[in-house]
Amino acid sequence: MAFDFIDAQLQERADQGLYRACSTVTGKQERLLTFEQKSYLNFSSNDYLGLASDPSLIKAWQKGADLYGVGSGGSFLVTGYNQAHAELSAQLQSWLGVEAVALFNSGYSANQAIIKLLLNKQDILLQDKLNHASLMEAGFLAPCKMQRFKHNDIAHLGHLLSKAEQTNKLIISEGVFSMDGDCAPISALHAQAQSSDAWLMIDDAHGLGVVGKNGQGSVQAAGLVNRDIPIYMATFGKALGVGGAFVAGSKKLIDYLTNYSKPYIYSTGMPPAMAYCISQACTIAEKEQWRRDKLSELIATFRRLACENEIQLGDSHTAIQPIIMGDSKRCVAVANKLKQMGLWVTAIRPPTVPVNSARLRITLTASHELEDVKQLVTAIRRVLNEY
Ligand SMILES: *Cc1c(COP(=O)(O)O)cnc(C)c1O
Repeated sequence: MAFDFIDAQLQERADQGLYRACSTVTGKQERLLTFEQKSYLNFSSNDYLGLASDPSLIKAWQKGADLYGVGSGGSFLVTGYNQAHAELSAQLQSWLGVEAVALFNSGYSANQAIIKLLLNKQDILLQDKLNHASLMEAGFLAPCKMQRFKHNDIAHLGHLLSKAEQTNKLIISEGVFSMDGDCAPISALHAQAQSSDAWLMIDDAHGLGVVGKNGQGSVQAAGLVNRDIPIYMATFGKALGVGGAFVAGSKKLIDYLTNYSKPYIYSTGMPPAMAYCISQACTIAEKEQWRRDKLSELIATFRRLACENEIQLGDSHTAIQPIIMGDSKRCVAVANKLKQMGLWVTAIRPPTVPVNSARLRITLTASHELEDVKQLVTAIRRVLNEY
């Protein structure tokens, strides 16, 4: 029988406690999440600034639809590039201090695009071991050589670079790591890239809007400016609360991408109403500092309470606060128990994270209250005592 690996591989996932399925939530993505008519405190979304259901953004999307319709009608290079996209691009250039940007429907496709675009057989790609699956996958598929350096380990990166004879070398790191919440040593990465004549790309999906002055992201938080990094990429689906992504770089790089990148050229442009809505989300992210301040207060409270309750946390001072459990089945059992107590916390298991590092990936957002965080820590303490 053809394709009979499907049964076997699904069974394997189930046997290992790694089987996945979507849960249908009803209603909006906000502080409380509704599932099967029950509501839960939502500690699993990447909506760090609490924008995904913000009334002004809902209005902006509606207004965008009134102005520009709901679909772009074609790829960006045909009819799909609307005034709304041009305005969003200009806004990103001025907010983030970058020269040029290309918009994408997803961060996944942006990462596929840039890696495929730049790296050929004779080139080398160096990635942090904990980089997001979209980067790893693209690196494996690209014809170049790919090496992974130890997480946040500049000495190891330097060692690999010293041995690399390739002319074109690209280093990629996340700004804030998606599953651990820790930050990359961006100024050291930048210095290493410069001294090795390599390019550096930062995927700031979890940093944009959350860290740095006016939410300008991880590069700015590290004391550099976004223009110092040849390729700066981030998404609009995390802190910005909407969806889609962009790649920023020199005008020449973006011209090259526009002319040669297949995921860019052969894909229907982002709906213009959505671009219009993202513009408004960027304005809020830039101007409403109180959202970052509130998030910082929640993070500090969570960490203090966890420490008082002897709950082991990682080295994260961002909105992503994982509790590493190791064993996948135990992790799922704990997450299920928390769900019974009205707390939505996702168990993240391999292959999303390394083997034996299954974790509760807790995310805090500006729409949580201090009471929510207290309730969470108390519940986790109770459940961990049981399991
Ligand atoms: C979510 C994420 C992506 C993918 O972005 P989407 O817009 O969700 O496709 C890429 N990189 C990182 C680090 C991410 O966390």
